[in-house]
Amino acid sequence: MKIAIDPGHGMSNKQPGVYDPGAMHRENGFSYQEADIALRYGLSLRDVIRARGHQVFMTRDDATDHMPVGKRAAAAKAAGCQTLVSLHLNDAEVDTAHGLEVLYRDDKVLAEKLQARLVQVTGLRDRGAKPRPDLAVLKFAGLAVLVELGFIANDGDRNTLLDPAMREKICEAIADIVLS
Ligand SMILES: [Zn+2]
Repeated sequence: MKIAIDPGHGMSNKQPGVYDPGAMHRENGFSYQEADIALRYGLSLRDVIRARGHQVFMTRDDATDHMPVGKRAAAAKAAGCQTLVSLHLNDAEVDTAHGLEVLYRDDKVLAEKLQARLVQVTGLRDRGAKPRPDLAVLKFAGLAVLVELGFIANDGDRNTLLDPAMREKICEAIADIVLS
């Protein structure tokens, strides 16, 4: 199987030549960026899927790749992928918003399975699987899910997601579901 991994945001995502960090949060002099955390998850997921003997196409694998969001689904298809997994962190007006959600175009069963497994593994709040056929990256011609791993401004979510051991568990769980 060949899986496309899309670490959300990054260079030229919204505007050519301009870096889009996605959601941002400052805490105790540290600055956290969604694009950076999503990339770390993307690279870990790539390693997990490759270790299981499957191929991976990355829509970006660093902070300089010029891959606008509108071209990512088509690039994944052109690369011969059957499934696309997009990785994001959520953003909200209030820091108290928290939890994990899986967005999907038409495969509700896959999305709900992934949602249930990720909630079980992380202990994060279950915000449910939600249909979002309007999202550009979910227009991928194949199975497509977008994981909103948690809220970047929420201390509980962010601390959970920044833990490398948790990242590994989450990536193993995503691989379990999308490769099954
Ligand atoms: Zn995002």
